[in-house]
Amino acid sequence: MAGRSILLCDGAVLTEQGWLNPGYVVLNEGKIAEVGKGDAPQAWLDDCEVQRIPGQAVLPGFINGHTHFSQTFMRGLAGGRPLLPWLKQLIWPLQGVISAEEMKLASLLGLVENLRGGVTEVVDHHKVASTPAHTTAVIDAAQSLGMRLKLARSWSDLGTNAETRESILSDLERLFAEHNGDQRVQIASGPLALWRCSEGLLQETHELAKAQASFTHFHVAETQDEVRMSLEANGLRPVEWLAKIGVLDEQTQVVHAVWVEAGEIDLLANRGALVVSCPVSNAVMGSGAAPLKSMLEKGVRLCLGTDGPASNDTQDMLETVKAALNIARTVNLDPTLLPPAQALSLATGGRCLKAGAEADVITINLNHVRAMPVQDFDSAVVMCSHGSDVRNVFVAGEPLLIDGVVQGLDEAALLSECAKAIQSMRRRAGLA
Ligand SMILES: [Zn+2]
Repeated sequence: MAGRSILLCDGAVLTEQGWLNPGYVVLNEGKIAEVGKGDAPQAWLDDCEVQRIPGQAVLPGFINGHTHFSQTFMRGLAGGRPLLPWLKQLIWPLQGVISAEEMKLASLLGLVENLRGGVTEVVDHHKVASTPAHTTAVIDAAQSLGMRLKLARSWSDLGTNAETRESILSDLERLFAEHNGDQRVQIASGPLALWRCSEGLLQETHELAKAQASFTHFHVAETQDEVRMSLEANGLRPVEWLAKIGVLDEQTQVVHAVWVEAGEIDLLANRGALVVSCPVSNAVMGSGAAPLKSMLEKGVRLCLGTDGPASNDTQDMLETVKAALNIARTVNLDPTLLPPAQALSLATGGRCLKAGAEADVITINLNHVRAMPVQDFDSAVVMCSHGSDVRNVFVAGEPLLIDGVVQGLDEAALLSECAKAIQSMRRRAGLA
C-alpha cells in the first residue's frame, strides 16, 4: 500500500445507507479507500495508522459557503447599531487601515476558527483586495493550514473607491492564472454589491469566471433597502435583474436571498443558481429570514454560510445548521421542516462517506452531557453538538486537527499576535 493510510474505527460513520455504528473509514492518498460496518478488517489494522474513536461521529467536512476573513478582527462590534452607522463608524475605518500582514493574521484566525468547527472548505468573499499582497495573504494563510479555499475577489467599478475596469479584469485574470489547476485554492469573482457594479462589468466578469470553470459570488437581496434600490434603478427586483442581464445560472452563488418573492425563487431554481443562506447573520442584523421552505419545495440548490464574524459574531457551522432549522420552523410554524439529516446535508454539501470520495473527513465527539444518551446520530450532531466538539479534521487525507490540536501552528502565539494587531489597527483607525 503506497502513501500514508489512516484508519478511523469504532465511531459512527455517515454513509449513503445511513449511519454505520460502529463503522470504519480508511483514508489513503487523499481519497477514501474503504468504508465499512463493524470491526475493520485485519489487513487495514496491520497497514494503517489506527485511530480508535469510540463515541464519535465520522462525517464529511463542512463547507462554509460564505464568510469575510477581514472581519475576523471586527467581531463583537455591532452592539445593536443599525447597518449603516455600524459600517461607517467601525467596519469601514478598520477595513481601511488593515495591512497585508494583519490580513494574514485575521485570515489565520478565521481559518483556524473554521477548522476547529469542522470546516474543510470555505468561501471567502474577499473584501479587502486593496493590493495584491492583501489577497496573497489570505491564500497563504489557507495554504499554510492545508484547508480548501474559494476566494471570491471583491470588486466595485461604481461609487467611492471604485476600481477601473482594466484593473479589476487584470487582477482577476492574474489570480485565475496563478491558481489554475490548484487542488485546494479556487478563485472566483465577488462583486461587492449590485449597486456598486456596472451591468457591463458584471456580465464580463461572470463570463470570465465561467471560462475558468469558476463562479460569481455576491450578496443579493439581503435587506429590503436593497430591493427598493434595485426597483428604483432597474425597475426590477434583484434576482429578476440578474436573470435579465445574464448573470444568473449554475455558476452564480447568491448569498442571503432573504427578500425574494415567488417569481424570483422560480428563477433561482430554473437557472440552477446556488443560494448560500446565512441564518445567524440575518438574525443578528435583523435582516429577516430567507424563505428556505419555498426554496426547498421549488428545488433551489441550497447551502449554508456563517457570513463574516462582524455580523455573526462567530463562524460555527453547527450553530448555523441548528439556526437554519430553528428559524425555518419558527417562521413557518412547522416542526417537521428541515429534519436534522436534511439540515446536516446543507452543511456537508450533500456528501456522504464512500469509497473513491475526497478524504475530507471530520469526527465529532458525542460522548458528553449535551448529547448523551445518543439515540439518533443526526439529532446528536445537529441539535446537541457545538463546533468545539469537533476532534479531528482531515483534508485530502491530511490531518489538520488531531484530537483537538491544530497541526503545524502555534495557536497561542497566533492569538497573542492578533490581540496586538487589533490594538494597532484601532489606533490607526482613530478608534482607540
Ligand atoms: Zn457577507
